[in-house]
Amino acid sequence: KAKMTRRGSHVIFESAIRQELENRLTLESELALAADRGEFELFYQPQVRLVDGSLLGAEALIRWRHPARGYVSPGEFMPVVNTSSLSERIANWVMETACRQARAWELSGNSVRVAINLSPSQLDSGDLAHSVAALLAKTGLTPSLLELEVTEDILLHDESRVLDMFERIQQLGVRVLFDDFGTGYASLSYLKKFPLDGLKIDRSFVLDLLADSDDAAIVGSTIGLSKQLGLTVVAEGIENRATADFLVSMGCEEGQGYFFGRPMPAEAFERQFLPAELEAVSAA
Ligand code: C2E
Ligand code: MG
Ligand code: MG
Ligand code: MG
Repeated sequence: KAKMTRRGSHVIFESAIRQELENRLTLESELALAADRGEFELFYQPQVRLVDGSLLGAEALIRWRHPARGYVSPGEFMPVVNTSSLSERIANWVMETACRQARAWELSGNSVRVAINLSPSQLDSGDLAHSVAALLAKTGLTPSLLELEVTEDILLHDESRVLDMFERIQQLGVRVLFDDFGTGYASLSYLKKFPLDGLKIDRSFVLDLLADSDDAAIVGSTIGLSKQLGLTVVAEGIENRATADFLVSMGCEEGQGYFFGRPMPAEAFERQFLPAELEAVSAA
């Protein structure tokens, strides 16, 4: 009897796995179709100088404009993209689209630094430094207006190769930032190993900063550490003024979050942030 139960649950387990596999394959082919149809878009979220809220740049964040479901968040499909054959194609599209946008803004008189999230495949295959150089040449974008964000899962790759790649990317004048700092297993050892220009404090430490003294301690130490290492520090997930003020009091200079602006289409970003920039220039 016990044997039968085990067999029964075994069958259920197997069918759950099969279902999951089917779901993944369906999503994968939907995503390939979406790429063919041009259903991916980049949204832009403002990054600001915290003391005065002035615009420094924007983080490019991918969205899937699904014909029936509307905008789908990257959390729902990027894990599948990143482990499928689509990965390189979409990563290249993100890079090229963001660089073209940044160049268009640059030409319109707005030096908006654009930050791109790198995908694991970009450190695996080919030569990233080379493709970044080629993209800069092709678009004419000033290298200092480009920033690359890497997460810990990317740094798990062949260490000496990544190190060499980062050095060559930085020699181009492009900056590399460590994203989601503090959420991984070995954040501190990566700071020691890799040439980084800055780090982004993960929003999980910032969202509840005012109420949680542990978060405050972690954020405060991270800011201090960054300064001592000569790194730029960007806080993400700032949802209200009080959090921004508290971060300023702890010495954090840059940030992003819903308080300053949500990720939005390029046109909305221009309407909301770039005219003010131009006014500020002409008023000066
Ligand atoms: P991330 O790079 O850490 O991006 C920041 C995420 O925090 C974004 O989520 C953004 O919408 C969200 N966020 C910003 N401010 C606030 C806030 O004040 N409160 C809260 N609760 N959330 C805030 P999003 O756009 O859903 O992206 C999620 C993740 O997907 C990104 O995390 C990044 O790891 C990945 N991702 C997004 N776009 C791309 C892309 O083009 N390529 C790659 N490889 N990954 C991407
Ligand atoms: Mg990011
Ligand atoms: Mg992040
Ligand atoms: Mg994240």
